[in-house]
Amino acid sequence: MLATMVILAMVITGVIAVSPVVDFGDVRRTVLTHDRLDGVPGSGGEGYSYLATTPGGAPVTWTCEAVIEVEVNPQGAPEGYAELVDSALATVNEASSFTFEVVGETDDRTFLDRGAGPVLLGWADEEEVPDLAGPVAGLGGASYLTGPRGARSVTGTVVIDTDLPRGWFRGMDEEAVLVHELLHVLGLGHTEESGQLMAAQHHGQSELGEGDLAGLAALERHACRP
Ligand SMILES: [Zn+2]
Repeated sequence: MLATMVILAMVITGVIAVSPVVDFGDVRRTVLTHDRLDGVPGSGGEGYSYLATTPGGAPVTWTCEAVIEVEVNPQGAPEGYAELVDSALATVNEASSFTFEVVGETDDRTFLDRGAGPVLLGWADEEEVPDLAGPVAGLGGASYLTGPRGARSVTGTVVIDTDLPRGWFRGMDEEAVLVHELLHVLGLGHTEESGQLMAAQHHGQSELGEGDLAGLAALERHACRP
């Protein structure tokens, strides 16, 4: 099947904008326009959307029960990053039948140009990854193969902004950003329902909501259909 597929050597990305729970009047509160990075309008269901779809409307996601390898680039990572990553991956793994698995560390920094290999997870600033400019906390997405029988993700990227406004973050929140980006890697886009972790703006929600879980279940259904 692989041989009949064409690789799209681009990463589809989604962004999460940071918005403080309390309005400090900071210019960084400016809401981003996400354009096509947001997800496919009208796709998905109650409380969730798909980041990308095939011409037939199916979500772009991984193979059924895929074990998804992750390499971590620790450059610029916060103290305790290994536990942070482990915890975020465990949260997603418990909530879905896909399994993220850290296979090691790397000095690879090809966040936006990934055609193969493990998902790259790391930290960068806006000089290196311009899409992290402004109130963006992170980017996440997948590269996928497409062919006559559909599309499937083969690798991906999670990159977290090293300039996160930490005064706005409490304990769990950096993990919440990681989980949000990992759900982009799996194939979910943003939702307009603000109570969901996949809402484009972060208002302090730290746990997966019903829409997030329904979205993960929908991805699994598509991945595992005969
Ligand atoms: Zn996002």
